[in-house]
Amino acid sequence: MFQITPIPAFDDNYIWMLQKPGSHDVVVVDPGDATPVLAKLKQDQLQLQGILITHHHADHTGGADQLAKQFDVPVYGPANSPYKGISQSLVDGDSCEVLGQSLSVRTVPGHTLDHISYFIDGEQPQLLCGDTLFLAGCGRLFEGSPQQMLKAMNYFSQLPDNTQVFCTHEYSLANLAFAEAVEPENAEIQQTISNCQTLRKQQKPTLPSSIAQERLINPFLRTQQASVRDAARKYQGADLKDEEAIFAAIREWKNNF
Ligand SMILES: [Zn+2]
Repeated sequence: MFQITPIPAFDDNYIWMLQKPGSHDVVVVDPGDATPVLAKLKQDQLQLQGILITHHHADHTGGADQLAKQFDVPVYGPANSPYKGISQSLVDGDSCEVLGQSLSVRTVPGHTLDHISYFIDGEQPQLLCGDTLFLAGCGRLFEGSPQQMLKAMNYFSQLPDNTQVFCTHEYSLANLAFAEAVEPENAEIQQTISNCQTLRKQQKPTLPSSIAQERLINPFLRTQQASVRDAARKYQGADLKDEEAIFAAIREWKNNF
């Protein structure tokens, strides 16, 4: 496992920094801006050894070219990415090794068509999921279909309970307000709102989440639950034939929430 630290960027992005405990070598994930990364490296006297990219959006890739050039490090990312700065192309089922640790790559299209996630197995599993899975939410469907995103959610859902989930935006409270609207009776959601409010008052990240927590609170991982199904039907004003239709209705509801 890695020691994983957030480097805040823009309004609500987190650039996650991976490090082996006791080492000064680090890898950063989705550096949308080089400036805060450079400041962190300097401040803590760290050595950048590589960059991981989850998808092509500028707030995830904008600083990668500069960092890769300055430190002469590899840039791992999806093989089918419109972002052209990737030196190590990855496809579904690949594993890549950074800082002596193996990461499993899965394609998880939906938010974009080139989106991938990185999973680190072990006693304390860790997931780097970009803009796909959020605490109590999922990414907007800019390029992919509800079917594709639901497949990604099903992959995340079967990961070990204690998997730490490193999402790339601080969207938790807004997502939880929506989750509460979908499932007003869900006590776990109420409790998580309270926990996250406390963290935000202290200006701390609400992340990482965990897969166990997401299974209890995230409407996009709970489309098989009767409460979520009924809420989706009520929103749509129609019977929804399958899980994919329920997922699509919930996603559309969130877009308009
Ligand atoms: Zn994005």
